[in-house]
Amino acid sequence: MGIQKGLKAVHAYKDELQRRREAAEAGKKNWFKMDDGESVDIWFLQELDESAENYSEESGIGVFATEHVKPGKDNFNVKCVCSMDDEEACFGCEQHRKDWKAGWKGKNKLYINVLVKRKNGDQEVAVLSTSNGPKGTIAPLLIKYAENKNTVTDRWWNITRSGLKEETVYQPFVGEPSDEVKPADYADQLFDLETCYRVVPYAEQEAFFFPAAPRGEDSEEGSDGDVKASDSKTSASVDW
Ligand SMILES: [Zn+2]
Repeated sequence: MGIQKGLKAVHAYKDELQRRREAAEAGKKNWFKMDDGESVDIWFLQELDESAENYSEESGIGVFATEHVKPGKDNFNVKCVCSMDDEEACFGCEQHRKDWKAGWKGKNKLYINVLVKRKNGDQEVAVLSTSNGPKGTIAPLLIKYAENKNTVTDRWWNITRSGLKEETVYQPFVGEPSDEVKPADYADQLFDLETCYRVVPYAEQEAFFFPAAPRGEDSEEGSDGDVKASDSKTSASVDW
């Protein structure tokens, strides 16, 4: 974004930079996590589409991203967005074509801000990252709801988790429409979804996945919910 025309655009650009700076300084995102056996209520604070009935520009929309993850037990956070659509070339796709069993297949995920209400009454805004793949449960149902009801921000959803690691299942249950939460009240607490995934240009992807020298401590590592994959608390982003 090199050129801004008009004062409004200049101010908007400055505001945007400020917003990004603050988001970066704020650092860690609050990833949605739940324990095995836990049941929590969540209220989606963003729609899936700008045409939705309750869409607000301030809150924005959830983001779907297809990502390639470097295969290997400790590599679940070494991942970047598939560049095939943007650059017509993608290192992850190339690896997948070479060996379709190696684990390079792009995985589609939804990132979206939610209000979380625990059984003890605690409430927090968090980023839900959840699979939109064949085994995903929350995202595919949410898409159906968005298409049928033209909004997803009008009710509580109950999510129950059972199992650990690969056996983890998230069972969504959709509540009745309610006025209890006004998503606009939380618009200033939302996490910047653009910082939830990593975009690496094709030219740099091989070096990203296979760095010549060991990479230093990346501050971003450890802030991703995926890091907790081996913990009892696991984000919904773990692929199951
Ligand atoms: Zn790709």
